[in-house]
Amino acid sequence: MDRETELKIAELFYSIQGESSHAGYPCFFIRFADCNLRCTYCDTRYAYEGEHKSHSISRILAELGKYPGVLVEITGGEPLLQEGVYPLIYELLALGRTVLLETNGSLSLERVPAQVVKIMDMKCPASDMHEKMDFDNFAFMAPKDEIKFVISSREDYNWGKDIVNSYELHNKTTVTFSPATTWLSPAVLAQWILDDRLPVRLRLQLHTILWPDKTKGY
Ligand code: SF4
Repeated sequence: MDRETELKIAELFYSIQGESSHAGYPCFFIRFADCNLRCTYCDTRYAYEGEHKSHSISRILAELGKYPGVLVEITGGEPLLQEGVYPLIYELLALGRTVLLETNGSLSLERVPAQVVKIMDMKCPASDMHEKMDFDNFAFMAPKDEIKFVISSREDYNWGKDIVNSYELHNKTTVTFSPATTWLSPAVLAQWILDDRLPVRLRLQLHTILWPDKTKGY
C-alpha cells in the first residue's frame, strides 16, 4: 500500500473539533464511508447510504495541505473497515500531525499505532448495537485516549456505569458520558453523575451548540 491507495470517503471537511479532549481546536476531518453497525439514532447515515467517491491518499494529503498544522480526525462510518486506513495513518503521523481516530467500538484497535488518539465509542442499549462492542479493546486504551458513552436513558446510564466500575475504565483512560440530547437533558445526566460520584466527564457536543441546524460537514 502506498500513497496511491484508494479510500472510500463520505466527506472531507474543516471545522471545529466538537467532542473530545481536543474539543474547540480547528480540525481537518476525514469521514470514511461505510459502517458495519446500524445504531437506532445514527445521524450519519449518509456515510453508508448512497454512492461515495474514491480518494487516493495523495489526494487527501493534498487537501489537508491547505490547513497546515491543524489536528486531523479520522471518523466515519467506521474507518477501520478499510485496510487503507493504516497507510493513511502512517502518512499523517510522518507529517507530524496529531491524529484522532473515532471508531465505533466493534472492531479491534490492536493495529492502531500508539501515537494515535483513539476515541472509542461504547454503544449503549438504546443503540441496539451494544452487543457488538469489543471489550478486548479496553486493553489498548491509554490515558490520552477516550472511551465515549452516548447516553439516551437511565437504562443506558446504568449499563455504562456498571461497565466503568467493573473494568475500572477511569483508571485506564478518559471516560466521557454524552447525552443524546433528543432523549436526555444534559442537566439530568449531570445530576446522575454527581449523585453517583461517577469518575467520568460529562461531554456536550460543541458543534451541535455552534451549528444546531447543520446535518453534515461539522
Ligand atoms: S457506528 Fe456511527 S455511523 Fe455507524 S450506525 Fe452507529 S452512529 Fe451511525
